[in-house]
Amino acid sequence: MAIPDPIQQGIKKGWQVVNGLKITKPSVFEADVVIIGTGAGGGIAAEILSNAGLTVLMVEEGLLRSSNDFNMDEHIAYAELYQEGGGRSTKDGAITIMQGKAVGGTTVVNWTSCFHTPDTTLQFWQDQFSVTGITAETLAPWYQYIEKRLNIGSWDVPPNPNNAVLKAGCEKLGYQVASIPRNVKGCWNLGYCGTGCPTNAKQSMLVTTIPTALNNNATLLYASVAQRFNWQQDRINHLICYPLKQANGVLNKQAPITIKAKHYLLAAGAIGSPAILLRSNVPDPYRRIGQRTFLHPVTMSAAQMSEEIAGYAGAPQSIYSDHFQWPDDDSMGFKLEVPPLQPVLASVLMKKTGDELHQRMLKLPYTQVLLALLRDGFHPESQGGRVVLRNDGSPVLDYPLTPYIWRAVKKSLLVMAEIQFAAGAKQVFPAHIDSTLTSNWLEVKAHINNLDLVTYKTLLGSAHVMGGCGMGEKPYNSVVNSESRFHYFDNLSILDGSVFPTSVGANPQLSIYALSALQSSRLASELKS
Ligand SMILES: Cc1cc2nc3c(=O)[nH]c(=O)nc-3n(C[C@H](O)[C@H](O)[C@H](O)COP(=O)(O)OP(=O)(O)OC[C@H]3O[C@@H](n4cnc5c(N)ncnc54)[C@H](O)[C@@H]3O)c2cc1C
Repeated sequence: MAIPDPIQQGIKKGWQVVNGLKITKPSVFEADVVIIGTGAGGGIAAEILSNAGLTVLMVEEGLLRSSNDFNMDEHIAYAELYQEGGGRSTKDGAITIMQGKAVGGTTVVNWTSCFHTPDTTLQFWQDQFSVTGITAETLAPWYQYIEKRLNIGSWDVPPNPNNAVLKAGCEKLGYQVASIPRNVKGCWNLGYCGTGCPTNAKQSMLVTTIPTALNNNATLLYASVAQRFNWQQDRINHLICYPLKQANGVLNKQAPITIKAKHYLLAAGAIGSPAILLRSNVPDPYRRIGQRTFLHPVTMSAAQMSEEIAGYAGAPQSIYSDHFQWPDDDSMGFKLEVPPLQPVLASVLMKKTGDELHQRMLKLPYTQVLLALLRDGFHPESQGGRVVLRNDGSPVLDYPLTPYIWRAVKKSLLVMAEIQFAAGAKQVFPAHIDSTLTSNWLEVKAHINNLDLVTYKTLLGSAHVMGGCGMGEKPYNSVVNSESRFHYFDNLSILDGSVFPTSVGANPQLSIYALSALQSSRLASELKS
């Protein structure tokens, strides 16, 4: 029996869904609130604001794809569901950036790990950025609300062998290790979360909050790019969008879409939200927009195991270790997890070409990979990157890599290799262009210490873009206040990962959901009164 596709069912039922690819002449839309971006921040806001009886218009630059389209084919998924066709990177090409571009945003392709914002992070925001009222206590009811809404809970299925290696290695070495809560309902344990869930088990925005908003008579305008705000003094008058002419991103500038709303809610994600503000030339006396954009830069280490790992099957991330997350000295901490190993993704992670890549790919079923998420933004030598506009107005992130970060890169490679050998790896190779297969801990230690840890040679990636419109009470070091309101306009809020003043220090989706729920509930009350 075919799996019911809730999106196709809703459209048949009469949801107001407009495909930008079909818009050929100028048009005007009106709503109480327009939400730009339908990912973690935008999806939650759409449900809460439409539940409050406000008319909501959701604008999304990506395509509308749903379970009937998700066929576990990596080539199609990266091209259709990811920013820049899966090819986004930092300005110098040194760090690959995975970020979603679809109705449902990055939640459509993420790997379902859910963590609260660490207390230390919240304290840092309060101390360094004067963020007020965002504490573990104020967030607690919103976590509860989101955990219920998105079915977030412990994952009681045994970890797949890829994750089990992290568990075994940490246990052997006495390192902290635990299971990861996931936002899934009736998960088939396929392992293909990154290509769109074909069974609707992942509780992404696509199958949860967006359908509720559409049932509440919200309108979804997709394949349409929010270009710039038209503003005067301290208010936005309207938003200009362009529909896509072709699915590959060419804009139809002959058919501008004018959107008028009482309130404008930016949720286009880190990189996307600052880009719209920069294109709009909004007031920015301290030049904060786009600054302090963070990545949780990721390093990886691969291992050959004796038993089959099949890292392409089973829940992609189910085990983590925070043993190295909050070191006593001021070095950069990191969280340890495991990536899924579908063939296209795995071939990139190997950081090899030609025959060497071929040989390593032949061993993929026995290959295990660990990743370290480096916690950027908590040190003077980790100020993050800056979003700038290319000549065509599209955004790109300039992210300098400092000696402070390189020291954490080295430490993370050493720690991961040690864990892999402790878990019984036959061979370990760090994800680096010059890496060789090493057979024991002493050998890999010497090898890593001799590796030339520089850009292009060392594999660095990111799936967690944060910041660029940071929160705080002082306009000289923030873009929005602690209620996510833009400092200089009355009718603009930002509710997505861009408002974090540093990286989160944990996979960010639940932090974004909870913050968006808190702020959009406040906004709903204000707009209703
Ligand atoms: C492969 C992968 C795995 C991940 N796994 C996890 C995980 O397991 N756990 C976790 O916590 N996090 C994970 N993340 C990260 C997490 O999903 C994101 O941090 C989160 O979704 C960001 O939410 P957001 O609202 O800031 O932006 P997004 O969810 O990215 O949504 C922003 C939306 O805005 C749209 N947009 C941008 N510009 C415009 C414009 N000009 N006009 C109209 N629309 C626009 C984008 O197309 C996008 O759909 C993962 C990310 C990736 C890529």
